[in-house]
Amino acid sequence: MLWRAFSFLLIQGLGGWLGGLLAPDNLQIRGMVIGMLIASVLAFLVDFSRGLQVLRWLRREDLADLPVSRGLWGEVAYRVRRLTRSREQLAQASEKRLQDFLAALQASPNGVVLIDAEGCIEWFNQTAASHFGLDPQRDRLQRLVNLVRDPAFVTYASRNDFSHGLSMNGRGAGTSKPLRLSVQFHPYGEGRRLLLSRDITALEQAEAQRRDFVANVSHEIRTPLTVLAGFIETLQTLPLQEEERAHYLELMARQSQRMQSLVGDLLTLSRLEASPLPDAVALVPVPPLMTQLAEEAAALSAALAQRAQPVHELHFSAPPPLAIRGSADEIHSALSNLVSNAVRYTPAGGSVRAEWLLHEDGGASFRVQDSGPGIAPEHIPRLTERFYRVDRSRSRDSGGTGLGLAIVKHVAQRHGAELHIESTPGRGSSFTIGFPVHRLHHVAEPAHQPS
Ligand code: ADP
Repeated sequence: MLWRAFSFLLIQGLGGWLGGLLAPDNLQIRGMVIGMLIASVLAFLVDFSRGLQVLRWLRREDLADLPVSRGLWGEVAYRVRRLTRSREQLAQASEKRLQDFLAALQASPNGVVLIDAEGCIEWFNQTAASHFGLDPQRDRLQRLVNLVRDPAFVTYASRNDFSHGLSMNGRGAGTSKPLRLSVQFHPYGEGRRLLLSRDITALEQAEAQRRDFVANVSHEIRTPLTVLAGFIETLQTLPLQEEERAHYLELMARQSQRMQSLVGDLLTLSRLEASPLPDAVALVPVPPLMTQLAEEAAALSAALAQRAQPVHELHFSAPPPLAIRGSADEIHSALSNLVSNAVRYTPAGGSVRAEWLLHEDGGASFRVQDSGPGIAPEHIPRLTERFYRVDRSRSRDSGGTGLGLAIVKHVAQRHGAELHIESTPGRGSSFTIGFPVHRLHHVAEPAHQPS
């Protein structure tokens, strides 16, 4: 400022001096005044043009190059540019923070919808879009209740009590593709609301399965228990012949055997669910396992027909020199379930064939084929569900628990293997467990038996 006043006075002085110098001797004072006036006008014009330059520069969007670098206007331009830059940086930082925040909400596994005081959608993430069928372009600033029209949701949204959530169907939910949501509003700011939605389909299905499971187990145990209680009462109250007594005791033994099998299978299943995955260090050699399975099949075939000899044609092919990496108990349980099913469901005189198939990629499969009644295609996807039976009475009569294939599926999964079922009604069934190469040990390699 001081420099500006000083330079103005200097220009005035210079103008006055020049005016006095150029004027005739008797008009020197007038010449000085005119010189000062001219100097003032010139100074004003220079100042004005600089001001105009700064104004034009301010009107531009890009304030990169300063229009004037010195003087008062230079300082004004410099300060304006500094202020604008710091504001821009602040705005950029806030924008980045907002984007980070929205990206975090976008990454949330839950649906998030921000709703303004008028009930209109301000923002929502992709999960919310798929939960409620919203379109990011079309539905912003629309009233939420106009888009999510489930009556229970509309009532919930119109209430002012959001202390509890609501369970509802998601958009596009149907019997083939259920989508159950748990939604809850959380008020914030001035009249704004945050809507969170969570996919609880799996949770509800697991809960329903748990309820079904408990009901099934109770039912399965109650039936033999009721029969047992009836026989006990008969034995206690009726004077029976020795032969009749023996017959009743035989029937009671069968029922208790049935309960034992059921409890055994339930324990096996719960062990499979609770224990860590079997490691790939222990080796289960296939040849002795095949021998054991063949002996068990022969014994079962004979026992079912109450004969001394098997009543099925049993073909157990010579196994390859192979070992499976995993749990011996689990693998035996899975393979013997497949063999025993084949024997139990194939009528006497039918054939059961068990064999190992080697794949080109180094994997191998255990396959059991039978000439039994076969299974209709609609049952096949459900066979591994607990207690799912196609032929309930045949399953019970032959000592089935309805848990065998559930155990097989679990064991297969725990060993990275896959269960494959093929069947044609009237022409028999084929059950195959395919083991991947990393779960197999070809005996040519040096075997590493854990201590
Ligand atoms: P279960 O103890 O009743 O045999 P599983 O889980 O082992 O239970 O099998 C489920 C159902 O699948 C059986 O009840 C039976 O109806 C059917 N099934 C299994 N294996 C065969 C087979 N080899 N032939 C025909 N049906 C079979």
